[in-house]
Amino acid sequence: MHVSHQQCFHCKKEYAASRTLFWCPDCGGSLAVHYKIGEIREKLDRKFRKAKPSHWKYWMFYPIPKRKIVTMGEGGTPIVKDRKKDDWFFKIEGENPTGSFKDRGSTVEISHARHLGVKRVVCASTGNMGASVSAYSARAGIKTTIYVPRGSTIIKKEQIKDYGARIVRVNGDYTDALEKTQKLWEKRGIYLTGDYLYRQEGQKSVIFEAIDQMGCTPKYVVLPVGMGNLCYATYKGLREMKMVGLINRMPRIVAVQSYHCSTVAEAFLKGGRIPEVDDPETIASAICCGRPNYGEEALHALRDTRGKAATVTDKEILEARDELAEQGIFAEASGAASYAGAKKLRLRGKVLMVVTGHGLKDVIT
Ligand SMILES: *Cc1c(COP(=O)(O)O)cnc(C)c1O
Repeated sequence: MHVSHQQCFHCKKEYAASRTLFWCPDCGGSLAVHYKIGEIREKLDRKFRKAKPSHWKYWMFYPIPKRKIVTMGEGGTPIVKDRKKDDWFFKIEGENPTGSFKDRGSTVEISHARHLGVKRVVCASTGNMGASVSAYSARAGIKTTIYVPRGSTIIKKEQIKDYGARIVRVNGDYTDALEKTQKLWEKRGIYLTGDYLYRQEGQKSVIFEAIDQMGCTPKYVVLPVGMGNLCYATYKGLREMKMVGLINRMPRIVAVQSYHCSTVAEAFLKGGRIPEVDDPETIASAICCGRPNYGEEALHALRDTRGKAATVTDKEILEARDELAEQGIFAEASGAASYAGAKKLRLRGKVLMVVTGHGLKDVIT
């Protein structure tokens, strides 16, 4: 394996790579994996370069062995050119097995759980992550309990139930649901899934694939930001690509958030700390996170790449969603946010927009 150690993003303390930690035992901060870059570089041979882009093509960038993985052919999603703008590209993540990019994290996270012999996992989720974890656990024969906060959409709850997971409704917001699952891990050792280290590592593959498919490095990478995990994973993936020589410059990362739930974007645009938003409300339910776990990390990604941020209204999101549908791309509201943001900022040059989820996920009439 190519992992060298784990490190806390906040206090920088290092831990052995072999320990399963969900947060820094010292300060509670989030952990990131560091790799032996030389060993990864050795794996990037002719066979690698010729292989078709898919999630597991980049196995050397994940912290688990490639044996007995739980996979359903996630990734390898298409890149579609904007019909109106020649240098704008969409990465269609709704094409993943459960309809969102979350499957890239789940395949790594649930494979790891199976390697450890885990029998049951828990997860706090408003929808897409819960559905994805439930599906991959079902594949692996692992029992799943999803803690669902208020305000989750009916369709996503049905999807979770149909995969055979148990749903526990929490009378509170996402943070309350999260605390409940974290207690189950601390008190009873039930394996936690969600926005933690293994998921983050898996989610890097969106950018690996996109650059591979485009054959060049875009000037901007535009992402919707909820918890901030995808944003930071993209940044981390880009850094690793640069370290091994797959790219020679970093694109600028652009975060798009709902005007009604602007956390990272607010701090980036106005300076100061990331604000907490109480009872946020937006049709883009997948990016409706008042207290993003990976907020600081996402903010770092924007600042370090001289990125940008935009906030968009529900109306702008719906317009973008309609315009995407008019060119054959059906996106869920949160997925259309990246297009809405790119248009609002009038980005120039090669622009990659991640359309994170499928339109059938949240039917809005
Ligand atoms: C999870 C999700 C997001 C946001 O990703 P974060 O890692 O929470 O920032 C955006 N769009 C869709 C469709 C999602 O499921």
